[in-house]
Amino acid sequence: MSPKSELIWFDGALVPWEKAQVHVMTHTLHYGVGVFEGIRAYKRAGGGSAVFRLAEHVHRLFDSAKIVEIKIPYTEAQVTEAILQTLKANKMAEGYIRPIAFIGTGQSMGVFPGKNPIHTAICVWPWGAYLGDEALEKGIRIRTSSFTRHHVNVMMTKAKVCGNYVNSVLAKNEALADGYDEGLLLDTEGYVSEGSGENIFMVVDGVIKTPPLTSILSGITRDCVITLARDLGYEVRESRFTRDELYTADEAFFTGTAAEITPIRELDRRVIGQGKAGPVAKAIQKEFFKVVKGENTKYASWLSGYEL
Ligand code: PMP
Repeated sequence: MSPKSELIWFDGALVPWEKAQVHVMTHTLHYGVGVFEGIRAYKRAGGGSAVFRLAEHVHRLFDSAKIVEIKIPYTEAQVTEAILQTLKANKMAEGYIRPIAFIGTGQSMGVFPGKNPIHTAICVWPWGAYLGDEALEKGIRIRTSSFTRHHVNVMMTKAKVCGNYVNSVLAKNEALADGYDEGLLLDTEGYVSEGSGENIFMVVDGVIKTPPLTSILSGITRDCVITLARDLGYEVRESRFTRDELYTADEAFFTGTAAEITPIRELDRRVIGQGKAGPVAKAIQKEFFKVVKGENTKYASWLSGYEL
């Protein structure tokens, strides 16, 4: 789907899509130090729409900026308001939201960002299931990537930094070229870390496991899944595991704002469990979609409502 909308919020004002342009000397374009978020808005079951976990996403954007020493020239409240304004201006009842803060040009072009201005933009566009509708139903086939996830002292994995995604793009390209849907990255010690844009969970003997927050992005969907799974009575452990544990797991699934809850049916040619969405993944997926659509009022505080 084309990532196009009528208007983009750019440095404080809504401008037509064609006008939201940057110069080729933009510092971030050369060195990758920019921070961004991926957020979703869903139509609510009872009418209207809501952005899912907006406050947490905006907060993570500011945390990412702090980690890489970018000073966003707005407050979290202003960015939150601008996101809602951009959705309404584009009459977007549901879709994907991409705020980004990056270093501009005009002052210096060395590695040191110097006094170059910081720009902030918010784009919104319609986006269905990231890995396809069938993926949500039937699960995907993945391969262990030949690329290793960042060492925590090489890249700041808690920050959603533009440059960190070179590693993700390499893994994704490799997976697709080899006929898989997604790549699974191991950490520098060889333990399972995450997908190119998703956190991972496995299920064995009814216990759910997910890697701890060391070399991975602190996924907001991951946090939801841990909460919802515990609510459903499952034991959830945040502990390291290896790829061979995944081969013999009963179930595995990816989580992410774009990927939502996507079951994994195959890893490195080994069929996982029954080779389809397992009962735990299905139960959590069902609960997750109820929550994002406002059908489970227990988590109403995770939704920021808006009307068009
Ligand atoms: N890991 C990586 C590398 C990601 O890009 C994403 C997507 N933001 C995730 C995990 C999942 O994070 P979230 O659930 O907050 O979207």
